[in-house]
Amino acid sequence: MKDQVKIRLNALLKITMKDLVKIKMKDKDGLEMVKLDMVKVIIFDLDDTLLWDAKSVKEAFVLTCKEAQKKYDLDAEKLENAVRESARQLYASYAFYPFTQMIGINPFEGLWGDFTDIHHASFRQMHETVPSYRAEAWTKGLAALGIDDPELGSRLGELFPVMRRQNAFVYEDTFKVLDRLRGKYRLLLLTNGAPSLQNEKLAMTPELIPYFEQMIISGAFGRGKPDPSIFEHALFLMRVAKEEALMVGDNLKTDILGANRTGIKNVWINREGQTPHDDIQPTLEIKALSELPGLLTI
Ligand SMILES: [Mg+2]
Repeated sequence: MKDQVKIRLNALLKITMKDLVKIKMKDKDGLEMVKLDMVKVIIFDLDDTLLWDAKSVKEAFVLTCKEAQKKYDLDAEKLENAVRESARQLYASYAFYPFTQMIGINPFEGLWGDFTDIHHASFRQMHETVPSYRAEAWTKGLAALGIDDPELGSRLGELFPVMRRQNAFVYEDTFKVLDRLRGKYRLLLLTNGAPSLQNEKLAMTPELIPYFEQMIISGAFGRGKPDPSIFEHALFLMRVAKEEALMVGDNLKTDILGANRTGIKNVWINREGQTPHDDIQPTLEIKALSELPGLLTI
């Protein structure tokens, strides 16, 4: 809070954006410079940093719920919320749930991914379980609205993945920003998830791939963000010290916490104006990806 006040004060003093972002307020005694001039490598998160995954999921829910409205006079938003809730509860009941937590695969990815990753027993269990998980999540969602129709639940469960695959969204500033960074910084993509699913997302937006020198998917590495080991692996692959890297991501509990634990400076993209977390302080915070080149003064 105190920091926010100071930042606003500096804005009033007409310090330029470039000056302002290079400064991080430390305490009442003065300023601590955030030096980004040593940065050679930028580590990007994928979902909701470069790809607009939340919008894709929302759109898939809207379209799938519309299908349900063809048969029943129901409130689409209520159905979506009920399915989200039943999905969360079911997902948490499976034996592979702790594995999904460690790798970073959320319940809604379970509603459309195939998990054909055969290299880990938990992925094989997920692959076998997700068809019934989808059917059950939608059937229970309908039931919460007083509709007993497992046949429709099963059909909606299969429709949702189709709709998700037809609705891949990228933020409009993603490519503009990557173009600005290209040639000036070496880029690495660090994403939590199942390799099959993350690769499928990338295949839907193949223009993203050439920007990155390396890509790390947690399900292939064995642990997900915020575990420091995956950040250290990123530094190792790029052959840089932690001071030479910058993490950019939307998630405080994975991207920012993990970078902090590893000693990597970081930028939190807070597009939705989320309340900051008391225990997880990003090095810098921006509201849109388009603000990133300004931080780097390029
Ligand atoms: Mg993310």
